[in-house]
Amino acid sequence: ALDIGANDLLVSGFECEELALRLQRQIARKRREDRLRANMRDGLRAAVTDPLTGLYNRRYALPHLVRVADRAKRSGRPYALMLVDVDHFKNVNDSYGHAAGDAVLVALAARLRDGLRAPDLLARIGGEEFLLAMPDMPRSRASAVAETLCHAVSNEPVLLADGRAVPVSVSIGISIGDPSGQAAPQDLLKRADRALYAAKDSGRNTVVLADTITPLHF
Ligand code: GH3
Ligand code: MG
Ligand code: MG
Repeated sequence: ALDIGANDLLVSGFECEELALRLQRQIARKRREDRLRANMRDGLRAAVTDPLTGLYNRRYALPHLVRVADRAKRSGRPYALMLVDVDHFKNVNDSYGHAAGDAVLVALAARLRDGLRAPDLLARIGGEEFLLAMPDMPRSRASAVAETLCHAVSNEPVLLADGRAVPVSVSIGISIGDPSGQAAPQDLLKRADRALYAAKDSGRNTVVLADTITPLHF
């Protein structure tokens, strides 16, 4: 009774009917509050989640980058931003249909998620574009990690429910956040985006690391 909010003590005997009524009211109130809390939780989760893949959405991911940058500054360890874009995804839709395209995105999200560590953030920030924020990820390791992700995606085609197999690959642009905090997350995103374009240019299914040196302007 205490667990569901009992807040009174009947010290000198009680009326059974009165007690039954009060218990009913108490239980109904507790259930109502639980429902409200659950609605609130679901609403908050929905606001930061992509409904198709269950990954975080853009709205959650971008402010998260500021936290990652702050933590890097405090720990003195660099972090990596990766933009992952599905190659020729329009062709997937055109050849297999939009529903198949959706299924491919869900499968890719799972493949990307499988290779991550607990503190890594994976978000779907556009139609067929994902963002990875990886704390404690030096330049020397980032390319290898991204290449492993590329292989995990392109290694096997995605099998659709009707048995068709869809070959898929992704291109990845990487930028590294220096713990000195010289580059803001927005600048790093731009650099990762340029690196992604370079990866597309060089034939797709590949990884390009953006130059981490901040150009000096005189
Ligand atoms: P590239 O290799 O240069 O990235 O080529 P691409 O075809 O992947 O790029 P483009 O930007 O031309 O096309 C992206 C396509 O992704 C177009 C759009 O219809 C599709 N798309 C975006 N969001 C979704 C979605 O939620 N579901 C499905 N099925 N398709 C989507
Ligand atoms: Mg794209
Ligand atoms: Mg694409």
